[in-house]
Amino acid sequence: NYEPLIGDVEFSHVDFEYLEGERILTDFNLKIKAGQTVALVGETGSGKSTVVNLLCRFYQPLAGQVLIDGKDVRERSLGWLHSNLGYVLQSPHLFSGTVKDNIRYGKLDASDEQIEDAAKMVDAHEFILRLEKGYDTDVGEGGSRLSTGQKQLISFARAVLADPRIFVLDEATASIDTETEQVIQYAIEYLMKGRTSFIIAHRLSTIVNADLILVMKKGKIVEQGTHGEL
Ligand code: ATP
Ligand code: MG
Repeated sequence: NYEPLIGDVEFSHVDFEYLEGERILTDFNLKIKAGQTVALVGETGSGKSTVVNLLCRFYQPLAGQVLIDGKDVRERSLGWLHSNLGYVLQSPHLFSGTVKDNIRYGKLDASDEQIEDAAKMVDAHEFILRLEKGYDTDVGEGGSRLSTGQKQLISFARAVLADPRIFVLDEATASIDTETEQVIQYAIEYLMKGRTSFIIAHRLSTIVNADLILVMKKGKIVEQGTHGEL
């Protein structure tokens, strides 16, 4: 079950609804070749985060398939998904426990030094040291004792440490200050390099670097091309 991953991602004829009868995606199709960066843009409510929810297997399609390397994600174990797919979500969710545990996550053999290096990479080290007990601070239920921006930084650090083949970013709009944003930009570029990346971006700087940009509207891709083409 832990065979090496190439990193092809495909949505094939996916239909999806959160509530019965309220269709969000209809015959949604998408192919990302291993190593490519695809940026998804589109108006609020168009279904961008829903695509991420399906790729990360937080929800299941009503019809159709989400495939990684040609195999339905439903056939992969959660352990496999955790080690191969790193994600930073729009509303990042941490689990109760310390900052350190949350960065380490599935990578149980990570040393304190590796954890701190990952945090430094995304400029999270400083704010973590300012917390009551530093890396041993309890983040509270779901991370409730931290701000959204802080939770995102911890999610970024987790992704850097995990070093997954596939990186998914559902960028938050306004939870990170400008200074941190520059460092985050660096972390995003680092995380996109050499792996399949699926980025829901608001910042032009992130979008410009994508191999392919998809524009979504009402659950469908209505336009696609490079930044130069669109
Ligand atoms: P934004 O840019 O604001 O993040 P988005 O493109 O990510 O928007 P989605 O979050 O995918 O949009 O939402 C697509 C549609 O699905 C919206 O109509 C939204 O109301 C609905 N929706 C999203 N999450 C749920 C949920 N958990 N339960 C029911 N409906 C949902
Ligand atoms: Mg969204």
